[in-house]
Amino acid sequence: MSNIRKIIKEQIETLIQEGRFDKFVGDIVRDIWMCVMDSKHSRKKTETYSFKYKEPLVFNSFVQITREKNDETAYAVKGMKIVSKKILVFLVLITSPDRKKEQEVYNDVYMQLQSVVRHELEHLVQQKGTNNIKGRVSPISHKERLEKEGTYLNFVSKDELPAYVAGIYRRAKMERKPFDEVAKEYLSQYISNENVVVDLTDDEDDFNISDAEGEIVLNTWIEYARKNYPSVWISTD
Ligand SMILES: [Zn+2]
Repeated sequence: MSNIRKIIKEQIETLIQEGRFDKFVGDIVRDIWMCVMDSKHSRKKTETYSFKYKEPLVFNSFVQITREKNDETAYAVKGMKIVSKKILVFLVLITSPDRKKEQEVYNDVYMQLQSVVRHELEHLVQQKGTNNIKGRVSPISHKERLEKEGTYLNFVSKDELPAYVAGIYRRAKMERKPFDEVAKEYLSQYISNENVVVDLTDDEDDFNISDAEGEIVLNTWIEYARKNYPSVWISTD
């Protein structure tokens, strides 16, 4: 096959794959959003839900919605994949002085869920087995992950790079914003100390990176997005 035909074929495959992801991500976010709404009138601080998905990817999800009373209305959304299992966990935390106020962050929570869900699905298709998509990178070793954890290197590691870019690309598309703008917004929580996003747990997510490191991450993400998402919108182009 000629080079140009090969490139076109690859781009079409990417588009088809991304189209399937779009619909599925939308469905999963709707399920999580239902949990946010359902738990709104609960007297409990935390509510948990679980879902089973069979098509196009096979996995179980656990959703945990937590609310805390706080002067500031803020939120955190986190996703994680249970290592070597087909289980995804999604955590949503909303803090507010009273529950009527929490609406202020709904749009952001909803949009961040788009990103986080897409990110975790990417990890799911990296894993060998049922959900694997041919050509995806394999997860890095536990040892390597530990070394990068809590540093900017985690954002650009072999398996996190495609996951972050996929998630941010998805959110940018939903918000009709340039990719780099959404990426910068996301990274700013790690660069500045003015956290809009609150700590969900005292975990590895609670760390800072320098401006220079932030630049490296941003440029690496943009470069990867340009290569893998032909229709990506970069504000400086
Ligand atoms: Zn990840």
